[in-house]
Amino acid sequence: MKIHEYQAKDIFGKSGIPVPNGQVVASSDEATKVCQIINGPPWVVKAQVHAGGRGKGGGVKVVHYPYEVVTAAESLLGKALVTPQTGSEGVKVHQVLIEEGVDIDREFYLGMVINRAKARPAMIFSQAGGMTIEEVASQTPELIWTEYVEPTAGWMPHQGRNLVYRLDPLPSPGAIRQLMAAMASIYKVFRTLDCSLVEVNPLVITASGRVLALDAKINIDDNSLFRQKEILRLDDSSEKDPLELMAEKYNLNYIRLGGNIGAMVNGAGLAMATMDVIKLAGAEPANFLDVGGGASEEMITKGFEIILQDKRVKAILINIFGGILRCDVLARGVLKAAENVHIEVPLIVRLEGTNVEEGRKILEESNLDFLVARDLAEAAGLVAKQVNKVD
Ligand code: ADP
Ligand code: MG
Repeated sequence: MKIHEYQAKDIFGKSGIPVPNGQVVASSDEATKVCQIINGPPWVVKAQVHAGGRGKGGGVKVVHYPYEVVTAAESLLGKALVTPQTGSEGVKVHQVLIEEGVDIDREFYLGMVINRAKARPAMIFSQAGGMTIEEVASQTPELIWTEYVEPTAGWMPHQGRNLVYRLDPLPSPGAIRQLMAAMASIYKVFRTLDCSLVEVNPLVITASGRVLALDAKINIDDNSLFRQKEILRLDDSSEKDPLELMAEKYNLNYIRLGGNIGAMVNGAGLAMATMDVIKLAGAEPANFLDVGGGASEEMITKGFEIILQDKRVKAILINIFGGILRCDVLARGVLKAAENVHIEVPLIVRLEGTNVEEGRKILEESNLDFLVARDLAEAAGLVAKQVNKVD
């Protein structure tokens, strides 16, 4: 789960990681009021969307007069922001954060993620702050320094020293202390909130020697949301694709993709393989949809409805290997979804496994129009052919 910068900064502030004073607003009227309470000039007006690279996309504006704060807020609110991390259609801005502009002396990158190979959280620190860290990592990996945390011991002060004392030139003793304190607090946030990522890019030393987090990104591991009730309240559904939101409600693993073949599959591995084979056959999947091993009839119905609601879909491929999910349950779910909607695109079905005969029979006896494929390669070939015919 992702949260907004202003929400992450609120958590930082409460956890002892200093952030600039700021307030989030959703209208230009509020912006007029807020610039009277926040220190400036300069002020920084920042679009609040679940995507990075906002600076590059014009989503971060530094301004010097109160009226400019308001015009900057107006120019962002309600508009779609396109950044290197959004698609070309961008994401709509519903809120902007207005904060005091600080005088930056030095910029750093500080982040924490789980390193799966080491099975430990990794603190990542770099002097190349404010830049895209993926680019730094691929072009100049020597500029990135990492410390792995032994979970039973937690973050140790010497690890902070290992990172900070590599800086060249060395910051003032006061700044060194603040940087190390920020690292310890980041680890605490990471652990207590079950994060998959905490990222501060940039973490800065200001001209007056203060260490401040100018940007804040926190992602929470979805598997921990059952015990992170406070965080769950920060969830902003306006940031999500409506079909993905519906899928989430019914516990379906659904991700929208760029193509036009709707696919319904059980099992993440089979879903990935199906996507590969669709591509191999010369077509592109419109989605990833894993209905899961133990999908109920209702989940199948909803999954199929989601695919049918996607207007880009020109053909549908159902590829089910019946194990715990029985083929007859699948067939009934598909028929139920098809009752309410007229299916205008070709439907290709490949069923195998538990109760396959019964599943096929249910489909055959319905008035649903579909093609049966014997194996995955044939199924993918059929969908690709259907799409090329439509185009
Ligand atoms: P993004 O990572 O989405 O581009 P950031 O929050 O990192 O957005 O902002 C982009 C850049 O804007 C930062 O690298 C920093 O140089 C500058 N910036 C952001 N907030 C402030 C602030 N409060 N004062 C001064 N400069 C800022
Ligand atoms: Mg940033």
